[in-house]
Amino acid sequence: MHVCILGAGIAGLATAWQLHRAGFEVTVIDRAGAGAGASGANGAQLSYAYVQPLADPSLWRHLPKLLFAKASPFHLRLQLDPQQWAWGLQFLAACRSSVSRETTVQLLALAARSRIAFERLLSEERLDCDFSSTGKLVLYGDTPSFGAARRQMALQRGLGSVQHAVTASECAAIEPALARHVPHIAGAIHTPGECAADCFKVCQELQRLLVAGGVQFLFNTEVTAMEQRAGRAVATHTSHGPVYADAFVAALGSASGGFGRRLGLDLPVYPLKGYSITLPVASDWGAAPRVNVTDAARKMVFARIGSRLRVAGMAELVGHNTAIAPDRIDALVQATREIFPQCGDLDAPVPWAGLRPATPTGRPILGRRPGTPENLLFNTGHGALGFTLAFGSAVHILELLQAARPLTISAAGPVSCSA
Ligand SMILES: Cc1cc2nc3c(=O)[nH]c(=O)nc-3n(C[C@H](O)[C@H](O)[C@H](O)COP(=O)(O)OP(=O)(O)OC[C@H]3O[C@@H](n4cnc5c(N)ncnc54)[C@H](O)[C@@H]3O)c2cc1C
Repeated sequence: MHVCILGAGIAGLATAWQLHRAGFEVTVIDRAGAGAGASGANGAQLSYAYVQPLADPSLWRHLPKLLFAKASPFHLRLQLDPQQWAWGLQFLAACRSSVSRETTVQLLALAARSRIAFERLLSEERLDCDFSSTGKLVLYGDTPSFGAARRQMALQRGLGSVQHAVTASECAAIEPALARHVPHIAGAIHTPGECAADCFKVCQELQRLLVAGGVQFLFNTEVTAMEQRAGRAVATHTSHGPVYADAFVAALGSASGGFGRRLGLDLPVYPLKGYSITLPVASDWGAAPRVNVTDAARKMVFARIGSRLRVAGMAELVGHNTAIAPDRIDALVQATREIFPQCGDLDAPVPWAGLRPATPTGRPILGRRPGTPENLLFNTGHGALGFTLAFGSAVHILELLQAARPLTISAAGPVSCSA
């Protein structure tokens, strides 16, 4: 069976890997190259236990500050874009305890499958991807937000996550590079089993393995349309002509919404823009963290990837615009200076911006959507957790393709996520 995968981000490549491994013939198409989209320089965190969705009831309390404070990590630029308005309203509607809880349950189950699948890949192949398993600290600067975090922790622990609430001085014992920041920490959640890796390198390594295994890659090739016959997709039309296959997996990241609209489908995926900086860490400076750290108030993550520190954050609802705003990069540099002074060379950070493919609830869209060809599956909408969830999502797509039954998803299933 020949499967054509649209999109060579981490979602598409992880899917290509699982399908190739299971004996499918695979072709991957991308308008640029492997890891050219949101998978390029993301926060690098494999956040298997800490999956709290952005759509959370606590957002209502912080909304005025998030919308209007100058240093807010969130930014909204209202546009004449019905998709932006519809997404925003659906997002606000999803900020309820029941939705947030159900999303947490589904994402934890998917993350657990992801961890198993990625660790199997790491054990089978030598991947040069700066993988580490040093755990994660999520820092809270005030008592109310730490209290809310402890409640989310209780929920996650009840679902099997290994997490502990720790004091500021315990934080410094776990991660000595935080020593000077202790007075600003009200408490933290420690997840000892969390991991990190360079997502772009994982993409490159997957491409290398797949090419060696005979998988065909069509890069610099834009997907423009799907050709359908009798309820089935027979080909995808591209800037370089049609590509025929037995089944198709659309893993187009933040471009998924536009792709869906061309099929007459309202796919609730909207870009949530974020930024990162990457800086070299000099080994003798010793002031750079080895443990992954999240500053909850600033919504910034710090991850050590080999001899580099990746700092990522911000959430902007500004359409499909990937321009790098200097003030956002300055904010990342400033926060790094405050939390980890002297951690590395902050004078020449490598800046980056990317678009998270976000659904209102934070649940990805996996599998077939009603009204579309029965042999077209979606693997998209992973939002802020696409690297973490990619391999579990890929296994789910593999299972759907392997099943002889109709390709449908069940909202009740543990990994059958839908937005
Ligand atoms: C600042 C930031 C920090 C993040 N931090 C983390 C983190 O720490 N941990 C984590 O798990 N996740 C993180 N994420 C989220 C994660 O990066 C994304 O969820 C993930 O990369 C999405 O992968 P994807 O393959 O779905 O999309 P993408 O990586 O965007 O891939 C989609 C691909 O489709 C291609 N494409 C699009 N349209 C077409 C077309 N018409 N024709 C052909 N090709 C097309 C693009 O070129 C692209 O290569 C972060 C994201 C951002 C922005």
